[in-house]
Amino acid sequence: MKCSAFFAVHATLGSLQLASAMPHQVRADLDSCLNAARLSTDFPGSSGYASASLAFNRRFHYSPAAIVFPASDNDVAVAVTCANSVNLPVSARSGGHSYAAFGLGGHDGSLIVDLSKMKTIKVNSDQTATVQTGNRLGDIALTLFNSGGRAMPHGTCPEVGVGGHSGCGGFGLDSRLWGLLLDQALSAKVVLSNGTLVTASSSENSDLFWAIRGAAPSFGIVTEYRYKTYPAPPSNIIFTYSYTVSPTTASSIFSAYQDFAKASAPPTLGLQASIGTPKSGNKVSIALTGVFYGSKADFNTAINPLLAKVPQPQSTNIKTYGWLDSLQVLGGQGLNTTIIPDGSDTFFAKSLMVPQETPMTQASIKSFFDYIGNQGASSDTVSFPKLEQDFGH
Ligand SMILES: Cc1cc2nc3c(=O)[nH]c(=O)nc-3n(C[C@H](O)[C@H](O)[C@H](O)COP(=O)(O)OP(=O)(O)OC[C@H]3O[C@@H](n4cnc5c(N)ncnc54)[C@H](O)[C@@H]3O)c2cc1C
Repeated sequence: MKCSAFFAVHATLGSLQLASAMPHQVRADLDSCLNAARLSTDFPGSSGYASASLAFNRRFHYSPAAIVFPASDNDVAVAVTCANSVNLPVSARSGGHSYAAFGLGGHDGSLIVDLSKMKTIKVNSDQTATVQTGNRLGDIALTLFNSGGRAMPHGTCPEVGVGGHSGCGGFGLDSRLWGLLLDQALSAKVVLSNGTLVTASSSENSDLFWAIRGAAPSFGIVTEYRYKTYPAPPSNIIFTYSYTVSPTTASSIFSAYQDFAKASAPPTLGLQASIGTPKSGNKVSIALTGVFYGSKADFNTAINPLLAKVPQPQSTNIKTYGWLDSLQVLGGQGLNTTIIPDGSDTFFAKSLMVPQETPMTQASIKSFFDYIGNQGASSDTVSFPKLEQDFGH
């Protein structure tokens, strides 16, 4: 397992860089407004602009009107007010890991509010955590654990930002146990499109609180969340059962996995199937992999019903880790993002959800694996479909 975008097809594609044509007066007025508040800003042509406007997914190139780096809630409110005064669209950027570069606006000409200077994380006496939205998942996990062994559910890539991850979902292998990251939010501070700063919770601006848990970018810029936290599980068993088999056998393994996830997998078991195309033609590689949060004996009880329905794996890897080590193994790198290199990728990604009541049919599973093992195997494009199960939550 490694830190990678889900369901992605990698390809090297050229892209056209469009120069944004911001009228001189708009630029001058925006500059003067942001400058009056002493906000650090990169405009086109400044030394930091080219690197600050790079997308994580290099398929996308956008030219923002400017990128502003607020250091406080009030700075964010000022930046939004300045953009309003010159009629510019605004986008927040937290970790910049949007698949389609929405942290850069998803088009040319936005004011980007880059939250990377807002990195406070605090575990409070009631075991809730206050997290500013310039933080990345790895740093949050480290600080929580080092503040009394606390943890929260979230995805595996340490560099993903909490702003986009929490604002739109936040799914990890621990989500069957605890839920999505957005489910943990107890309250949030939000700068609205008119530049006002409000608090949203179940008792204050409750309609906004509902909306930002899934569609935050459409309703404001969240500057800070207060989250529920959990004691980090002491025993985290990372397992992988791997096969390289015919498309027909892969279909039957996948069917057994789907039936198991739906009927008998306990919430302590996070499970996914990673599928690929080995070099030898007409074969499919399939790895049933995941994390069990509990003891070895309980893991054996939980996984045995699945193992009874699939062929003997060609290779098996099962290891028990402490909490932080398990996150590091899943992420494929260290958790402290101030010392790991900021990565990039070039990919096309697509997601498909099937409802628990009507999972993939035998016919659709068969045609999926036939495609992967035949046309998929002869393609020169690297692909890694990843099918995750979130049944029962
Ligand atoms: C390598 C990789 C691995 C991933 N792994 C997982 C995973 O394991 N599980 C999972 O669920 N997802 C995963 N994702 C998807 C990821 O959670 C989303 O792409 C997420 O939106 C990225 O958040 P970000 O803050 O880094 O991105 P950004 O590009 O900064 O923001 C994404 C969107 O959120 C908006 N936004 C950012 N901050 C705020 C804010 N403070 N207030 C309001 N709106 C805001 C932006 O404007 C943009 O529309 C992965 C993505 C990548 C690239």
